[in-house]
Amino acid sequence: MALPLPTSLSPSKVSSFKDCALAFRLSVIDRLPEPPSPHAAKGTLVHRALQLLMWEEEPADRTVDAARAKLERAVPEILDGEEYRALPWEPGQKDDFVADAAVLIENYFRLEDPTAVRVIGTELRMSVDLGSLRLSGIIDRLDLDADGGLVVTDYKTGRAPSANFEQSRLGGVHFYAFLCEQVLGRRPVRVQLLHLREPLAISTVPSDQSIRGMRLQTTAIWAAVEQACDREDFRPKPGRLCDYCAYHDLCPAVGGDLSRVGYRAGPAVVAVPVAS
Ligand code: SF4
Repeated sequence: MALPLPTSLSPSKVSSFKDCALAFRLSVIDRLPEPPSPHAAKGTLVHRALQLLMWEEEPADRTVDAARAKLERAVPEILDGEEYRALPWEPGQKDDFVADAAVLIENYFRLEDPTAVRVIGTELRMSVDLGSLRLSGIIDRLDLDADGGLVVTDYKTGRAPSANFEQSRLGGVHFYAFLCEQVLGRRPVRVQLLHLREPLAISTVPSDQSIRGMRLQTTAIWAAVEQACDREDFRPKPGRLCDYCAYHDLCPAVGGDLSRVGYRAGPAVVAVPVAS
């Protein structure tokens, strides 16, 4: 019996499927609960503080002190909220966590001058239908440049990818450029990833070629997802992301047991070799 298809694809789901099809299935199709992750909590916290700074403050008031105040306000909202209140904290750990989030916020100011940014939207949810496929995503920030062109900004709180992975990660930003073009009728003149850890800004200009490439790649991924659902064949792909995976207990590639959630043995539990 075929598995139900996901209702939509987002950049994170596309990445998840490419990184490990089994983890994608457990999360997106089976919707098995994942314990709250400190890594995700930090991303949410920093995104929220920057959203408050850029949306609520007049450009001239977007100072480092204002950003610290937004972070202070965001801490109870995010860490005591439904999604992350169950995070276990050792003594002193939460303070270190918030201090590290503050470093990321301060690093933001080394990447751009927020007083010069003309924000027209933050946390914008967009979706568009491509045949049977619905593409959806949330744009962290949409700005206007000096000439009135649209600029898409995506904040990243994890480590920046190596040069080898840079283009694949930029694929997510092209995805947002495509959404903008479809929903707003205008292609962004620039899309940028702001990696707050290093800090490092990666910027690119969407073109006919990049949008076409994104469209082809996403359509191919969707076809692969459809085929995997049809065959119930989602294989584990052990790699560096296993360190952050919530499904160790279930994953046969790292000694787990999928029969605990009622899976039968078959191609879905055959591990593929780790890429060198
Ligand atoms: S532990 Fe690794 S291989 Fe297994 S499901 Fe998670 S990411 Fe995939």
